[in-house]
This record gives sequence, structure tokens and C-alpha cells, in this order.
Amino acid sequence: MNTSTTEQIVLAARPSGKPKLTDFRFEKASVPAPSSDQILLEVQYLSLDPYMRGRMDDRKSYAKPLQIGDVMTGEGVARVIASNRPDYSVGDIVLAQTAWCTHALSDGAGVRKLDPAAAPVTTALGVLGMPGFTAYSGLRSIGKPKPGETVVVAAASGPVGSLVGQLAKLAGARAIGIAGGPPKCAYVKNELQFDAAIDHRATDFPAQLARACPKGIDVYFENVGGAVWQAVLPLLNNFARVPVCGLIAQYNGLGPGDGKDRLPATMREILSKSLTVRGFIYSEFVEQHYPEFLREIGAAIAEGRIRYREDIVDGLERAPEAFIGLLDGKNFGQLIVRVTD
Ligand code: NDP
Repeated sequence: MNTSTTEQIVLAARPSGKPKLTDFRFEKASVPAPSSDQILLEVQYLSLDPYMRGRMDDRKSYAKPLQIGDVMTGEGVARVIASNRPDYSVGDIVLAQTAWCTHALSDGAGVRKLDPAAAPVTTALGVLGMPGFTAYSGLRSIGKPKPGETVVVAAASGPVGSLVGQLAKLAGARAIGIAGGPPKCAYVKNELQFDAAIDHRATDFPAQLARACPKGIDVYFENVGGAVWQAVLPLLNNFARVPVCGLIAQYNGLGPGDGKDRLPATMREILSKSLTVRGFIYSEFVEQHYPEFLREIGAAIAEGRIRYREDIVDGLERAPEAFIGLLDGKNFGQLIVRVTD
């Protein structure tokens, strides 16, 4: 990479359904100069996360959509390479909203300094970052598993699902993970030590899930929606809690395709079983729970009580292809792009 040139990936077109490589454009520009209260960052690692798909659509949501030509949104681990701020020095390693680019300017808002000696810096993008906190806060504040209860989570090998299941186990509950394919299921069962892992691509997936949950489901941490939700719904127990965290099966706008209206049956289950179905965005809980999350999960990782997995791809130019793969389950762990060494 040339040090006077910055590279970036912009939204070239709004995807119709699944994103294509032509919906992104790779560009080069001059490295910007920081103004009197800014720092200049060189991005080392960029996180790729499912929420980015929503930003590509022109739809009202909890965050503003990108405009055509905007640099793709994203959080990165970066090194300060110039500073006009007293609180940052050249060489500091930080977590910041950098976007999909090699260099970014920041006024310090939302930036967090990282201590590379405390934990590998990439964990700040996954298990010790936004996805990990999402699992922690959604399970603690909404799911509230009790000893002996059954907790089910899909996308179970990913950064959110893997922590949900491990925290459920630490709370004394049974953890059942749902994942796509034998290698991910083996990881969830054998390495993460969930009680069972079920492949949602198996033709008899609903029956397998029912067998793994003989006492029903008390907490379903919803990460995907779609067919998985349809299999979970009849298994929910009275007073079950459903933190609705993500609906990745629907992000490309593809429904079940059979034209059935499932809302009346869903509402009947919610009413007759006194279900708590509660959507959330992690930011709701940041002020109250972030420091304790960093303390507790940081210690649990250092002591080996919590495991995590990262899927690192080399080169910013490979971000679009890797991101498209994420929406198809091709990632195995927190998807991270190594932007510079
Ligand atoms: P992951 O890294 O686990 O990646 C997404 C995974 O979803 C894929 O690997 C795939 O795993 C699974 N998946 C994709 N399509 C389907 C499908 N049709 N049916 C079943 N599974 C599917 O993602 P994260 O851990 O980062 O995020 C998990 C969820 O949490 C997402 O929905 C995300 O949007 C949400 N989220 C919500 C936040 C909030 O504040 N509410 C914050 C952060 C994340 P597999 O191969 O196992 O099927």
C-alpha cells in the first residue's frame, strides 16, 4: 500500500436481493490531512457484520442508510499515524468507526484505546466488541436464563451465537446451537461445549431440534428468523423469552416464498403461551452494561472459560466478496479483513 494513497470501498449500487460484486466499487484517493482537533488512522483490521446489509437499502431503520457513492460503514482496529489531539499519540491502537478504507479521520468521538497486551486487538471487533456485547446484553437483560432451562440460539458458531450459548451454560442452562453444516456443528458441540448442535440445512431439521429439546425451549435468542423461527415457535414453553437480535435470513429481502401469512398463528402462540418477544439493538444497553461486560468477558477469555473464533481475510479489496459470503454462511467465526499488517 502506498502511504500517500488511501483505498476505500464505496456503495456503487443498491442490491436487489443478494448483493453482487458490482454493488461495490474500489477507489483510490489522497490520504486526507487531519484538522486541528483530528487524528489520522491507518486501519489494520476491519470487521464485516450482517447489519451492513441493511445500510445498503434505502429504507428507514434504526440507522441512516448509505447513499450511493458513500464509503461502506464499518468498525475497525487502527493505528494513530498523526494526531492533533492531546488525548491520542502516534502509535496508539484504537477501535473506531473507520469504514471500509485504509485511512480514516476522527475527532475522537466513539474511539476507544486498546491495550494489545490485554487481549489480541481483533477481539475488540468480535467477542470483546459489539457482537460479544450484543450477546451479553440481550441474554442478561431479556433472555434471563435460569439453571436447568433450555436456551436455543442460531448462527451458533458466529460471534453473537457462540457467546450466547457459552453464557447460557455458565448460567446453568442447557445450550442448543443451530448452525449450517457439519464442521460448524462439530465446533459448536465439541469446542464450545454446547449440549447439542443441530444443522439447519438438514431435511429433518425441525424433528432434530424437537428431539434436542425434550423439555421445550425457555429462551430462544433470535439471530436469523425465517425457517429456523418456524421450527422453534411450536417448541417454545409457556413464559419463554425471545430476545429478537437479528433476522439474517430476511436481510436480502427473500421471504419463505410460499405466500402463507404466518402472522395470525404467530400471534396466537405469543398470546396463548404468554411469550415475551422483545427486539433490541445493543446500543440500548451500552451505558449501563459495557464496563461490566469488558471486565467479565475479558476475564473469562483470559481464564479460558469463553472461547471464540475469527475468520480473517487478507486485503481490503476482498471485503465485498467476503461480505457476500457472510450472508450465505460462508464465514466461520467473526469475519475480519486484515487491511494492513
Ligand atoms: P455471524 O458471524 O454468525 O454470521 C451470520 C451467520 O448467520 C452466517 O454465518 C450463517 O451461519 C447464519 N445464517 C445466514 N443465513 C441464514 C439462514 N437463512 N438461516 C440460518 N442461518 C443463517 O453473525 P453475527 O454473530 O455477527 O450476528 C448474528 C446476528 O445478530 C445477525 O442477525 C446480526 O444482524 C445480529 N446482530 C444484532 C445486533 C443488535 O444490536 N440487535 C448487533 C450485532 C449483530 P450458519 O452457516 O451457521 O447458518
